[in-house]
Amino acid sequence: MQSIDSYNFKGKRAIVRFDFNVPLNEKFEVTDDTRIRAAVPTIKKIFAGGGSIIAMTHLGRPKGVTEKYSLKHIIPTLEKLIGQKVIFAPDCVGEEAVELSKKMKPGDFVLLENLRFYAEEEGKPRVDESATQEEKDAAKKELKIKQKDFVNKLAGLADCYVNDAFGTAHRAHASTALIAANFPDDKMFGYIMNGELKAIDKVMDLPERPFTAILGGSKVSTKITIIKRLLDKVDNLILGGGMSFTFIKALGGKIGLSICEDVELAKDILKEAEAKNVKIYLPSDVVTTTQFEEVFKGNGNVETKIADIRNIPDDAQGLDAGPASTEAWKKVLLQSKTILWNGPVGVFEVDTFAGGTLNIAKAVVDATSGGAYSLIGGGDSVAAINKFNLADKVSYVSTGGGALLEYMEGIDLPGVKAIKD
Ligand code: AMP
Repeated sequence: MQSIDSYNFKGKRAIVRFDFNVPLNEKFEVTDDTRIRAAVPTIKKIFAGGGSIIAMTHLGRPKGVTEKYSLKHIIPTLEKLIGQKVIFAPDCVGEEAVELSKKMKPGDFVLLENLRFYAEEEGKPRVDESATQEEKDAAKKELKIKQKDFVNKLAGLADCYVNDAFGTAHRAHASTALIAANFPDDKMFGYIMNGELKAIDKVMDLPERPFTAILGGSKVSTKITIIKRLLDKVDNLILGGGMSFTFIKALGGKIGLSICEDVELAKDILKEAEAKNVKIYLPSDVVTTTQFEEVFKGNGNVETKIADIRNIPDDAQGLDAGPASTEAWKKVLLQSKTILWNGPVGVFEVDTFAGGTLNIAKAVVDATSGGAYSLIGGGDSVAAINKFNLADKVSYVSTGGGALLEYMEGIDLPGVKAIKD
């Protein structure tokens, strides 16, 4: 396997899969440049080695050519961050892209138009829902052939391939996985990919103990696989957020109108944790309101009460971990040497119910400054740590939502496998 650190980029055109799927406002301006900013070290390294870059990425979920999702909108931000002119190829596999690639000089940066303007990128046929199964199968077969051609056209633009898009590494798309086969001796990860994989491996394979995971978010059903995998790895498991109520109910608590899912499943998890000697920490108190419908509309101006989590009034919902809970969790976190945090412990988007998540964030920061290694991952906990401006005070903030969870669950990510194989 090649490494970006030792690969000789001199005179080479590198086709790099980035994740420049950034949010845009109604004027098509980039409102959060984190993902582009994060790619700068990989870009600088290739240029410093004497190479040039053909950048490919997706933006949004277009179902064909869509002005709104054109990558030309990100050019001003990209030029500012890399400090040079970006050459734009308005069709990622068109004649112009071929001509541009032939003329490239070391230090040139060519940006290809949105890969997802082509169905070939994802390999999902864009057929009408009303199509018959036969028509759908035929479209799939046809697209498979076209996808090979698409991959070959992209690969034909370059001399080597770099994958630096961790956020899409769990997808077997043309640009994230299939293209790697065209560069058997010239494929490698970029710095974002290297950093992500190293951080997750450090936590999942060789954690310093005690190892504590905090899992939050709304639903237990979406986190079952990761909970089960963590039971084989951690010493302590803190379960907060919406998912905690199913466990409280499983233990005989009265949870009012708080979200609740499969109680039997929660009982099984608790039994398994006991058998595996994993200590489970659930909330003891909770911030409740009877005006929860207002909260889910984004209105925090509601009456709240702190309740014992095992005795929530019949007409109320628990929407945040209370102060006694976070104080108890803080003690566990301060004694931990490795911390993994995925999912907020309350409806943090609304300030009235952000206190529990803020307390957790502060405790993780304190534990980190005391020497613990902390990895924060999954869309919403990352959004929370950013909201509190504490992202630079933890060890690592992962950029991958689905990819991170799948990698932690032990699934071979197609984007990772394609480079390693
Ligand atoms: P997830 O995508 O499963 O990680 O869930 C994240 C969402 O869970 C966030 O939008 C939070 O607002 C929500 N959440 C956290 N705690 C609760 C709770 N107690 N009740 C309802 N939703 C919650």
